[in-house]
Amino acid sequence: MTLFGTRIAVAVTAGTCAWFAYRHPLTVRATRRAATIAEIVALTCFMVIAVHRPAEFHWHAMSLAIMLIVIYLYIPNRLTYALILAICSTATFLVLSWQAANMLPADILTMSLLLILANTFGAVAARRFNTVSREEFRAQLVLKDAADRDHLTGCFNRRYLHEHLMPTELARAQRLSQNLTVVLCDIDYFKRINDTYGHADGDAVLRAFADLLKQMTRDQFDSIVRYGGEEFLLILPSTDLDGGQHLSERLRSAFAMMQIRSSENGNVVRATASFGISTAHFGQMATSYTLHDLISSADKMMYEAKRNGRNRVEAFQLC
Ligand code: GH3
Ligand code: MG
Ligand code: MG
Repeated sequence: MTLFGTRIAVAVTAGTCAWFAYRHPLTVRATRRAATIAEIVALTCFMVIAVHRPAEFHWHAMSLAIMLIVIYLYIPNRLTYALILAICSTATFLVLSWQAANMLPADILTMSLLLILANTFGAVAARRFNTVSREEFRAQLVLKDAADRDHLTGCFNRRYLHEHLMPTELARAQRLSQNLTVVLCDIDYFKRINDTYGHADGDAVLRAFADLLKQMTRDQFDSIVRYGGEEFLLILPSTDLDGGQHLSERLRSAFAMMQIRSSENGNVVRATASFGISTAHFGQMATSYTLHDLISSADKMMYEAKRNGRNRVEAFQLC
């Protein structure tokens, strides 16, 4: 009866944990917790069964060897954790085989060697598995970053703007009934910079401008997109027209005062930029506007700034 109960306990625990993992895709931490609980319950029940059937310790050793491989492979990302669990259960099993089973020392030695082999193989396989999955995770991050960002400046690219930023920022502004401001910035006479100093110095100016935008905007909150060759788009959530103007003025004057030194030939280059701003308040009255409308309005303001002499900020409240 006890043996039957322990077997049922193992089956119920493993089944429940598998069901949870299947129904609710678990985090790595939760998967580890579920696997650990199932394995500890299974191991405890296994030891109880082993003590109640001392004549079958040879078979128990084989079963434990298989369970050890399961422990090493099914506790994700925690080799030390799996090692402790596996070594403790191996040691407990060997102590029980001395105490409860009537076995020859040679048999116990063979059994111990089998379990040492299972532990060694399991640990090596788990280590390899952990390394491979970490490398895969890192590679995925690098690929995602490369797909979302512009290589030269590190700003988001237009694909990311259209696929991710446009829908999420609009939805956030609408949900929270907030202001949303976009700023389109364009470096003045950039073609002339390229023609005068060369393409490498032009690139240095682009990088310096992008770095300035990153430094002066809110980390993890505002978004900076390389919108065109020397055009950058700022998306500023919960920012009104005044806030957008204030930031753009600070950016304009900081960039105009910047002395950009090219790393290739030591030239010192100076440049200015023009800024077009557009703001919408996404309260109940203004839900028909989209981020496209805001960007095209900011674009008109940026060309207004160009027409009015460049190195300027022009702003418009869309609604
Ligand atoms: P405006 O003040 O009216 O904006 O004049 P502009 O010269 O800045 O504008 P225009 O559109 O005539 O020139 C943009 C130049 O930007 C042309 C293009 O060769 C250059 N450009 C685009 N992408 C890059 C890049 O990645 N690196 C460099 N160095 N130049 C680029
Ligand atoms: Mg330009
Ligand atoms: Mg341009």
